[in-house]
This record gives sequence, structure tokens and C-alpha cells, in this order.
Amino acid sequence: MTGWFISITLLLCLIAIHFLWRKKYQSLKLKYTDQQPKTNRLVKALGMTEMFANMPEGILVTNAKGKIDFANPAFCSMFELTDDPCGKTIMEAIRIHQANELIERLEKENSVTNEEFMLPNLKQQYLQANGVAIREKNGKHRGAILVFHDLTRIKLLENHRQEFVANVSHELRTPLSIIKGYVETLLDAETDKESTSHRFLKKIENHSNRLTFLIEDILTLSRLESGGIALEENYVNIHNLTESVFESLKEMAEKKGVCLKNKIPNDIVMLADHRRMFQALNNLIENGIKYGGECVCVSAEKNEKEIDLCVEDDGPGIPPESCERIFERFYRIDKARSREMGGTGLGLSIVKHVTQLHAGTARVESTPGNGARFHLIFPISEKENSHIN
Ligand code: ADP
Repeated sequence: MTGWFISITLLLCLIAIHFLWRKKYQSLKLKYTDQQPKTNRLVKALGMTEMFANMPEGILVTNAKGKIDFANPAFCSMFELTDDPCGKTIMEAIRIHQANELIERLEKENSVTNEEFMLPNLKQQYLQANGVAIREKNGKHRGAILVFHDLTRIKLLENHRQEFVANVSHELRTPLSIIKGYVETLLDAETDKESTSHRFLKKIENHSNRLTFLIEDILTLSRLESGGIALEENYVNIHNLTESVFESLKEMAEKKGVCLKNKIPNDIVMLADHRRMFQALNNLIENGIKYGGECVCVSAEKNEKEIDLCVEDDGPGIPPESCERIFERFYRIDKARSREMGGTGLGLSIVKHVTQLHAGTARVESTPGNGARFHLIFPISEKENSHIN
């Protein structure tokens, strides 16, 4: 009887343990399927595994914990991975801080675009990454999808192009300065200012000067584009900077009967490279004198976030279709007029690059017949704000 009772009790215990374990197992299963491979399942469910597998771009899918749920073969070969990275964090799998930062940013932001970085390998590989966050309907972060493009070839070609332009311009400088030297000597020796040879020599001098300006502008632009110019930043008073540009263009303005107005308040300072800013402002004011009307006015407005520097003229202005393209290299509204004025077609392109080097943007507003207003907008950093206030 006792044996019978013990057997029944044991059986009941076993049944209870079975149900308890089943319940625990179910909740673990639910937790596991809910959190971990959902994105992976999403990729599979949408039938995208094969599509992603054949894409030349590297695709990476991470989950809410920042662990890799899916990585296509292109991603693995880009980052030279031999093991399957699934289940690892970015830092465990590829140890690239920039990629890790993107995953972290996508926890707060909805997308990241055109982020470029160089891989720390001997191949000097450049990658561009675009990514979107995966969120639930209630906004809860589920993970992220990142797409990596290999920009190495494009960057290499771009470097070759810039190097070629810089070398050619540099090589042209020497023979040109020799030509100019001889022309000046001949002009000095020529006593008859009305003679044909004097006229011809003057023409050679003019065109040599134009060529010199063009080469200087091409060199400046290629340095600005290649990032070969390190900014020497100091606190620059832009009222005083404008005064010095006016001083250098005074003769030209007087010849054309153009008045120059400086409406910039005396107390606006910005952290900038004086030489580069002088160049940008000089190009804009010179254009105002060349292509504008009777007056060129420079003004500036400042708030907590930015400084808006504006060069305005009252000339014929710029047609709307040209406003879009005016900052492109060699873009001119009237080619013949620009050449006649001695322009190189690179002035505004230099303005744009100098502004971008200062983290700013350049744009133009114009109503034909009503002059042109060029705005250079520079963000103010916290460091600047604390210095100024
Ligand atoms: P350029 O050396 O020919 O002056 P820029 O890059 O400085 O080259 O200017 C490009 C073109 O934009 C000029 O050729 C001119 O047609 C036009 N432009 C520039 N500034 C003005 C302005 N203030 N008013 C009207 N047109 C302008």
C-alpha cells in the first residue's frame, strides 16, 4: 500500500515538473523569437536574402541590442571577415568606430546619409554608408539597416584628376613668368608708345596676366578641393575685413564709378581663416563692381546659431535658371562679357569652397533687373559663442 502511494505521488510530481518546465520553455522561446532573429526573419520573409547576397553593396542588419542579425557576402568581403558576424556587435565583428557610431546614431535618428570613412587597412579603402532605423509602430527601436558603398575607385580617380590639374598648373607657372618678364623688359625699352610693336606687346602682357590669374585660380581651387589647405583660424572682425577688401578694390570701383558701402556692425567677429575669407569676399565684391550697377553693399546679420554675410548690388541681376548653376566652375551668364572683364570663371566656385571649408553654405538670390544678393551663411560653434559673449 505504501509503495502504491509513493508511486502515485512521484507520478504527480513528474507531471507538475513537466508542466512547470513547459511553461518556462514557452516563455523563453517567446522571448528569444521576439527579440533576436526578428530582423533576420524579416529579411528571409521578404525573400531578400538572395537579393542581398548578390548585391555589390555591403548590407548589414542589426537588432535592438546592436548585434548583427544579417550581413551579406559583399559586407563580409569589404571588411575581410572570415567568420559569420551574426550575433556579434559591430565592435566585436569589424572594430570600426565610425560604423559603430552610425549604429548608435540610428537609435535616436531615423536615418544617416552619405557618411564617408576610410578603412584602417593597407588598401586605403573608402566607404560611404547610408542607413535607416527600424522602429515598431510605437516608435520602439528594433534595429538598423546599413548599406555600404565602396568609393575607393572613385576617390582614386578624383585624386588623380586633382593631382594632374595641380601639376599642370604648377608647370605652366614658370614659362609664363619668363614670358611676362621678357615682355616687361621689351615694354620698358619701347619709347614709342603708339608703335605697333608696343600695342602688340601690351596685348601679350594683358593675356599673360589673364593666364596667370587663371592658373592661380585653378591652383587655389584644386588645393581647396583636395583638402590640401589647412585653415588658419583666428577671430576675424568682418567689418574690418570688408574695409580691407574695399581698400584693395578702391581703384577698380572708382574707375567704374561704383560706390562701396560697408553696413556690417563693428562688433561682429567670427572664427575664420583671414586670408581665405578675404579671397571669398574680394571675389564677391569684385563681381559686384564688374557685373553690378552703381553700388555694392556688404551687410551681416548674426544670431545665436549663424552669421549671414551678404554682398548685394543693384545691377541687372541673375536669371533664375543661372542662380542654380552660378557656383559651378567656368559657368558664366555671358561668356564674352566675362572674358572682356578679365574673369576666370572660377571666382564663385572659390567662394563656395572657402565657405564650405568654414562649414558654411553659399547661395544667391536675384530678381532680374533688381540686382543680386550673395549670402554666405556660417554656423557659430559653441566655442565661438562663449568667446564672443
Ligand atoms: P568670372 O571670373 O567670370 O567673374 P565668377 O565665378 O566670379 O567668374 O562668376 C561667374 C559668372 O556669374 C560671371 O561670369 C557672371 O556672368 C555671373 N555673375 C557673378 N556675379 C554677378 C553679379 N553680381 N551680377 C550678375 N552676374 C554675376
